Amino acid sequence: MKRDPRYDILFEPMAIGPVTAKNRFYQVPHCNGGGYRDASAAAEMRGIKSQGGWGVIFTEQCEMHHTSEITPFIELRLWDDRDIPMIAKMADRMKEHGALAGIQLAYSGINGPNLYTKEVPLAVSAMPIRTFTNDPVQARALDRADIKDLRRWFVNAAKRSKMAGFDLICLYGAHGFGIFQHFLSRVTNHRTDEYGGSLENRARFVREVVSDVRDAVGDTMGLTLRLSLEEAFDDLGFANSEVRDFIEMHKDLPDLWDLAHGAWEDCSGPSRFKEEAAQFDLVTGIKSLTSKPVVGVGRFTSPDVMVKQLKSGTLDFIGCARPSIADPFLPKKVEEGRIEDIRECIGCNICITGDMTMSISRCTQNPTFMEEWRKGWHPEQMNAKGASSSALVVGTGPAGMEAALSLAKRGYDVALAEAKTEVGGRLTLERKLPGLSAWGRVIDYREYQLGKLSNAETYFDSELSADQVLEFGFENVCVATGSSWRADGVSRQHVRPIERHGDMPVFTPDDLMAGRLPTGKVVLYDDDHYYMGGVLAELLVSNGCAVSFVVPSAYVSDWTINTLEQETIQRRLLEMGVEIHLNRGLAKMEAQSVLTNCTYTDQLTRLDADAVVIVGSRLPEDRLYQALKAREDEWADAGVRSVSLIGDANAPGPIAWATYAGHRYARELDGENIGDALPFKREIAELID
Ligand code: ADP
Ligand code: SF4
Repeated sequence: MKRDPRYDILFEPMAIGPVTAKNRFYQVPHCNGGGYRDASAAAEMRGIKSQGGWGVIFTEQCEMHHTSEITPFIELRLWDDRDIPMIAKMADRMKEHGALAGIQLAYSGINGPNLYTKEVPLAVSAMPIRTFTNDPVQARALDRADIKDLRRWFVNAAKRSKMAGFDLICLYGAHGFGIFQHFLSRVTNHRTDEYGGSLENRARFVREVVSDVRDAVGDTMGLTLRLSLEEAFDDLGFANSEVRDFIEMHKDLPDLWDLAHGAWEDCSGPSRFKEEAAQFDLVTGIKSLTSKPVVGVGRFTSPDVMVKQLKSGTLDFIGCARPSIADPFLPKKVEEGRIEDIRECIGCNICITGDMTMSISRCTQNPTFMEEWRKGWHPEQMNAKGASSSALVVGTGPAGMEAALSLAKRGYDVALAEAKTEVGGRLTLERKLPGLSAWGRVIDYREYQLGKLSNAETYFDSELSADQVLEFGFENVCVATGSSWRADGVSRQHVRPIERHGDMPVFTPDDLMAGRLPTGKVVLYDDDHYYMGGVLAELLVSNGCAVSFVVPSAYVSDWTINTLEQETIQRRLLEMGVEIHLNRGLAKMEAQSVLTNCTYTDQLTRLDADAVVIVGSRLPEDRLYQALKAREDEWADAGVRSVSLIGDANAPGPIAWATYAGHRYARELDGENIGDALPFKREIAELID
């Protein structure tokens, strides 16, 4: 197919200083939880994006000098020449299919606690380190000699980046993370010398570094400056109006302005709270202040919205981090006129949890993310079919849908059986909860793709028993039958059911999603700690309930710290009038009230309640699998070679865990049994005498 001419503008080349991007698809720097520890995995992930047609591809933030690092978070490092081969591998992979390779140089200043190097942090002004973890560490202020050193360190890092083969350098001054923002903002710059006070003075350091770096490498490399569009902090923050003043004063300073939204949680706003193109107002008009190109982000997945950004004169490049993770082939699909094949980001921020938990990132929509090198998984190509030919997938939740689609792509004849009358599993109802509609894309994408394949068939109203499965005689059976929420309160606080006296009505998330809602005063007890408790509290309030949110943690929805949503969730619940009881468990339920206990002292408090909603843990729905296992001696006669249990039915988890399980099942079917061997590649540290 040919691309639609209305998207031609997205494919016009554009210069960034001395280099030229082949199109307007610009993968802005983004973390991946792998960084220097998983450098080959990160390099291959970027290489796949090059294949996918991106015009510009950046690394994640790269710690450019050992005096500033952000342990425990794992990014890249460029501390001496020995790091060059690692970043050169990334540059190579990025450029393989014609993208410009960019490196983001970060000096973290007030954001770097230096827990690993044990160096005293250096910052614009002497203050406590500002990061997620309130480290009990303060930075000392850079003196003039330090500033000279820092300018030289930037030049050294730029030279090393050039040696490694990069085309672009991004100087990081956004999200509160980079030293350029720390100089520009009066929140972090309290200096009274020529680097503090007026905007002219606060901008001195960035002018100096751009000039130094340009002298060193500017003949062949483009320089970009990444700034926050809005730092909201009292009246001191580097606000949108000051950003505009700064750009107007320094029109042509960098070769490109890379404008990120405010803090990271603004810039990577989840779909629950932020729409596509959410920064439109903040960025509108900035282009007219400069002759240099402008890139901005906004979880862009729709080519029409992208075109609007360019045609309205708002942006020159479409910046994407999450959309490029969910679909590394987004540009190729636009180019080939395959818009409906774009696997759109759902804005769940699971990818960010890989960085926040220092593990390795995953993506709900793209289970191959960060497995391109570790497991050799390609987001668009499946491995060839194995020895068997047919598979029955039972259950059409995220796990079953991903398994069926990937099996069908491998060439198996696939039957998909669903007890209900529509596909979607847990998402059929979860997507109808407040703020979660975009999550339905997980199912919509797979349903549409399956519909295009002639070797996959879906059967509804088919709640299968073991008898039926054995009768059908598919060679492979994949059981993806999901899970259900427990009503007895067993989770983390309670490992036995909660004491219940009288007839206090108890509801689970499954009840609420099915439309069985309590009325009056409701105690919502959340021992799950992810999104469900907060979302249901919103649902209850909008249905007229008075909600007391009881949680044995110091935060509402505390795991959402990792998805950058926690503050917004807690603020929203407070604003909606939810009464929040932190660090309290649910000790006992009585007829018209419950007893909550302090998690530290066990002191009890009574709360009146007409009903209790328990968001605790889930029970795997594995009865079909267990029934089939019990009849293993009948499999051969029935023609069954394998029966597997995947997704929530195996072990309940977030949706990303289910799509990963489905994909893995499909990849590994008919594969060699690797037994005790490690199922992925990894880096091994080089030992030095
Ligand atoms: P996961 O997140 O692992 O994909 P879900 O709970 O989202 O799991 O989906 C499980 C799906 O399996 C549900 O749609 C459910 O109706 C379906 N299901 C459960 N048991 C059976 C069965 N015996 N036969 C067919 N479908 C089933
Ligand atoms: Fe988008 Fe979620 Fe994938 Fe991140 S994990 S890229 S937010 S779908």
